[in-house]
Amino acid sequence: MLAVAYGLFFSFSVFLVPLVAEFGWSRGLTAGAMSVSTVVQGILAPVTGVFVDRFGPRRVILVGAVLLSGAFVLGAAIETPWQLYLYTGVVGATGLVGLGWVPMGVLVSRWFRERRGRATGIAYTQGGKALHAAARRETILSAGAIGSPQILQLSGIGPGPLLQQHGIPVVHELPVGENLQDHLQLRMAFRVTGVQTLNTMLHSWPAKVKMALEYAFRRTGPLTMPPSQIGAFAKSDPAQATPNLEYHVQPISLDRFGVPPHPFPAFTASVCNLRPTARGHVRITSADPRAYPAIAPNYLSTAADRAVAAASIRLTRRIVNESAALRPYRPEEFMPGPQFQSEDELVQAAGQIGTTIFHPVGTCKMGRDDDATAVVDAQLRVRGIAGLRVIDASVMPTITSGNTNAPTIMIAERGSRLVRAA
Ligand SMILES: Cc1cc2nc3c(=O)[nH]c(=O)nc-3n(C[C@H](O)[C@H](O)[C@H](O)COP(=O)(O)OP(=O)(O)OC[C@H]3O[C@@H](n4cnc5c(N)ncnc54)[C@H](O)[C@@H]3O)c2cc1C
Repeated sequence: MLAVAYGLFFSFSVFLVPLVAEFGWSRGLTAGAMSVSTVVQGILAPVTGVFVDRFGPRRVILVGAVLLSGAFVLGAAIETPWQLYLYTGVVGATGLVGLGWVPMGVLVSRWFRERRGRATGIAYTQGGKALHAAARRETILSAGAIGSPQILQLSGIGPGPLLQQHGIPVVHELPVGENLQDHLQLRMAFRVTGVQTLNTMLHSWPAKVKMALEYAFRRTGPLTMPPSQIGAFAKSDPAQATPNLEYHVQPISLDRFGVPPHPFPAFTASVCNLRPTARGHVRITSADPRAYPAIAPNYLSTAADRAVAAASIRLTRRIVNESAALRPYRPEEFMPGPQFQSEDELVQAAGQIGTTIFHPVGTCKMGRDDDATAVVDAQLRVRGIAGLRVIDASVMPTITSGNTNAPTIMIAERGSRLVRAA
């Protein structure tokens, strides 16, 4: 987006404005338009980039305001077309320099290593250029439960046979990428009557306009809603000590993510097993950092997970079918559908309607020194490599019994204290 916006303004100032001048529009209008373009170029690039991090928003805005005033003064002083060309050239070049500061599309390809097994920074590519950033004290890897193991493996830290298979010299052998855990959500959907849901609203232009107007004038309505309106915790069987299921309920239904909603009113009751016993893995498929790693969550690969999946479908049916509050809307299950009844059929149905709820964790597991499956220690330091920490969801030894974002923020808070104390 930023690049497109920049391109538009660049073209505007370099090509359009001189033409306007040649064709005799008033000098003031030309200079003013150029000035606005200059400022947008100047401000757009740094505001989203490292300038704000480095100097703080106030200083960036102050510099932007000075640039704006300067551009107006200079623009207004232009007398000849050649001065105009020169001016736009300088403006364009300044904007390009500003854009160069924005770390857009950075792909971290590996950490690089100096002598004695110490991580000293990262290697990355930006705009096709190979670059590196040196760390004075430590390198912190926070690329998430998929990205962090990928980067470590590309850097030679991981399972030996996997690295050798891709021709990567083994720096340190660790079970990086193993222990992947995720919450599998079973998206059960029920058709309803006598009530509107987002399904019908999103298929009707008048309803969409109404939603937009409601948001614009009252700041209420569907456009202000979070993705799920109901969250609930439950037990798949009463013997569980604490709830092991989480519900996310939404007034919309889709065959799968990315396709339009069904054309009839319906809701989705998504239920997930909060304590899966299945363990999967993330493994590189190539030494090329641009190649996606293979992600194998191994959902439903254990008998315990299959039993919870079947029980959670039964429980959801019970809640929906026996709820007095839902009775007026005559809910009818169509995903997976009432034809799935036996234990085996329910497990098969779970495989069909199950999908990630985007909570991958565990691939750089934290553990004690005597834990052979651990990748980082209790201080989040990568075992066997100095100056390298992983601070993200990948360090969770076991997935949390609830959503993962807040726990990841807690890991980050704790991690920042560990880094400061080091
Ligand atoms: C669609 C979706 C919906 C979610 N909804 C919820 C929710 O409602 N509630 C909740 O609690 N949790 C939710 N989660 C989960 C939550 O977002 C994650 O648990 C959390 O963001 C994990 O944080 P992280 O820092 O480990 O990884 P991330 O937030 O994934 O951050 C990793 C960052 O590293 C970058 N990166 C990775 N590899 C590289 C590389 N090679 N080079 C450069 N950069 C790289 C990525 O682009 C990303 O910006 C959702 C996740 C998704 C995807």
